Amino acid sequence: MMQDLIRQLLAELGEDPSREGLVDTPKRVEKAYKFLTSGYDADIDRVLNNALFTVDYSEMVIVKDIDFYSLCEHHLLPFFGKCHVAYIPSTRVIGLSKIPRLVDVFARRLQVQERLTNQIADTIRDKVAPLGVAVVMEATHLCMSMRGVEKQNSFAVTSAMHGAFRDKARTRMEFLELIKLRSAVPGVREPAGYACVGDD
Ligand SMILES: [Zn+2]
Repeated sequence: MMQDLIRQLLAELGEDPSREGLVDTPKRVEKAYKFLTSGYDADIDRVLNNALFTVDYSEMVIVKDIDFYSLCEHHLLPFFGKCHVAYIPSTRVIGLSKIPRLVDVFARRLQVQERLTNQIADTIRDKVAPLGVAVVMEATHLCMSMRGVEKQNSFAVTSAMHGAFRDKARTRMEFLELIKLRSAVPGVREPAGYACVGDD
């Protein structure tokens, strides 16, 4: 079914879907799309299974420079970059390797960067119940840069902060200092231009 649609799309683009280089393209595209949207099938509780530990520790935990790749829901084109996650445990911590996994679960869907950022932060807030959680994402949007739309808007930074990161300027600044961003965080220093808002 999906392969038929891809064949139709190739024809609509003015291609000959039966030429040698394209014969297996529908199969490959289907496989690629299924992988790139595999986050819809992921069960968060299973992902986090056996990775929540009770601790007596309340220092900031940071996982920075997590590579992520997602697809913008307006153009089905990639946006990708780095994700930085921090939280302050209350009674539980989450296995460090699970955080990049969590990022993948939400990145492997059709997304907008703001929602992706919020979903990661909200999930950690809800599942780990920390004193605070912060997520910052920096990404390049190919739907902007490839189409030659306003070059400076092809890069965007988004953030989501809960608890101590929202309430305490010092906690927030400590986090931002530790991740040393390439550009400003919206709502903290200056408003960001949103990369893809799907205007065209
Ligand atoms: Zn887009």
